[in-house]
Amino acid sequence: TTPDLVLDIAGLQVAYGGIQAVKGIDLQIRKGELVTLIGANGAGKTTTLNAIAGSLTPLRGEITYFGSPLKGRRTDQRVADGLVMIPEGRGVFARMTIIENLQMGAYLRNDKAQITRDVDRMFTLFPRLKERATQLAGTMSGGEQQMLAMARAMMSQPKLLLLDEPSMGLAPIMVDKIFEVIREIAAEGVTMLLVEQNARLALMAADRGYVMESGVITMAGDAKGMLDDPKVRAAYLGED
Ligand code: ATP
Repeated sequence: TTPDLVLDIAGLQVAYGGIQAVKGIDLQIRKGELVTLIGANGAGKTTTLNAIAGSLTPLRGEITYFGSPLKGRRTDQRVADGLVMIPEGRGVFARMTIIENLQMGAYLRNDKAQITRDVDRMFTLFPRLKERATQLAGTMSGGEQQMLAMARAMMSQPKLLLLDEPSMGLAPIMVDKIFEVIREIAAEGVTMLLVEQNARLALMAADRGYVMESGVITMAGDAKGMLDDPKVRAAYLGED
């Protein structure tokens, strides 16, 4: 095995009752990589993320995280090991303030001084959150809640961040801002798997990409190469 492999998925199958949503996929992520998984609605992308995060149990296949199988590990144990998912729809604590949400992100840590420094670092990365530190999260816009969800995830010191549709439902200016933040997080060295409907932005930000169709991976490669690929352009970038 490659020493810098963070995630190694082999032959993953996931089913909902009799409906098989993921039909045997292979996917690898190396340390420091930003990998994107693109594909149409219903292709099985969210299902794949949920299997990695531990909220769905695979039917078959192996998911190996830093050389150890994830099978049998609960979601909270995976989070404690740095495997953190930001779900679609963000999942911020609406009745808590921004700062309380950030502190919740660090609930498994006990390095108080460093937590305080990390909150400050998040406020530098997301000035908007600093302005609203004591406001209830539920009163913020969708884009601001997405930023909070990302900042909260960063507070847990992720080793692999799973992002599900961060741009979903956001105004174009907010989408740009979110992608700016994704690039900054990647530049800090955080390894990421990004599921996105906006294939163009995702491939522009990513190192490598995978295309998923009806539960299988149909293409994989260097993200820049995929941006130039005629089949990707026609099917996912709205060009001919
Ligand atoms: P989207 O962008 O819409 O989330 P996706 O690529 O993430 O698409 P999934 O959400 O993983 O796709 O769905 C894959 C398939 O599994 C779809 O056919 C979907 O209808 C089905 N599916 C998803 N969740 C469930 C569920 N809870 N019960 C039954 N079928 C489901």
